[in-house]
Amino acid sequence: MTRPSSLRTHDLLGRKRPGYTKDGLTVHTDPNALRRVTKAMRGGGRRVTLVPTMGALHDGHRELMRRARSIPGSSTVVSIFVNPRQFGPTEDFDRYPRAFEADLEMCREEGVELVFAPDVDTMYPPGFATSIDPGPIGDELEGAARPGHFAGMLTVVNKLLAIVVPDVVFFGEKDYQQLTLIRRMVHDLDVDVHVVGVPTVRERDGMARSSRNAYLTPEQREQAVTISAALSAGQYAGEQGPAAVVAAAREVLSAEPALEVDYVELRDPELGPAPSIGDARLLIAARLGATRLIDNAHVSVTERV
Ligand code: AMP
Repeated sequence: MTRPSSLRTHDLLGRKRPGYTKDGLTVHTDPNALRRVTKAMRGGGRRVTLVPTMGALHDGHRELMRRARSIPGSSTVVSIFVNPRQFGPTEDFDRYPRAFEADLEMCREEGVELVFAPDVDTMYPPGFATSIDPGPIGDELEGAARPGHFAGMLTVVNKLLAIVVPDVVFFGEKDYQQLTLIRRMVHDLDVDVHVVGVPTVRERDGMARSSRNAYLTPEQREQAVTISAALSAGQYAGEQGPAAVVAAAREVLSAEPALEVDYVELRDPELGPAPSIGDARLLIAARLGATRLIDNAHVSVTERV
């Protein structure tokens, strides 16, 4: 990852640059330096908000930043870190899109004051051994397809919370299982932070924004919209009971043979078994070529079957 000279933490003579510039954006790579800055902010009465990301920022991330910035008296930290521990050995860690300069530009546009962009060795120095166990839901849905993914994700989120010590942290509903497991962890481990889930930002045709959409060919991009269309079909079927929701979504997906469907599941909002009536979540994962896509939506199940 290359950083422009103006954003390096040391100048050419090796002198440490000030960690924080009031009206600008400062990039920190050192957790301790960032910790000192956010501690001083809190001490000065500001609230600290955190938006964790893996970079390649798009309008979904932008919405998270806007929500963070809208908290009165707050300063926002965006972390940009492609976390190797949440990628399996055959997954796309090496080819995951990286766009550091454009990411910084978006952060600046949105009035973000601090970016935390640590190196992998800084986050996981030799001897690093601890991991957060996500519990049973961590082995289901995405966890079944991606063993170890949620342990890696929770571990890095826990580290980010410990470094930044934010008052409020923002995650997208796009990764609904991730959001659910983070809420669980924060509750179970008594982490003193407020977790805000932000509704999924979509393209005009309904497709959820995702950094991985960059992998899709134009043809695959057209095929991919079938996933959000299937979610809509499932939502409309809510008044016919839970089985009809899944059947309606599956029927739409089956019309696109290029999609290899991994799962279509209706769950309760905490990802337990689907309710026969009330609020539920419909979750879909499917592959298009080598690209794995996930999406989900709220469903109101209104009739008992
Ligand atoms: P990522 O960089 O993909 O790890 O995502 C960072 C954060 O942005 C996560 O909390 C995601 O759930 C969230 N996010 C990603 N895509 C969207 C989207 N389309 N709408 C809202 N939030 C999103």
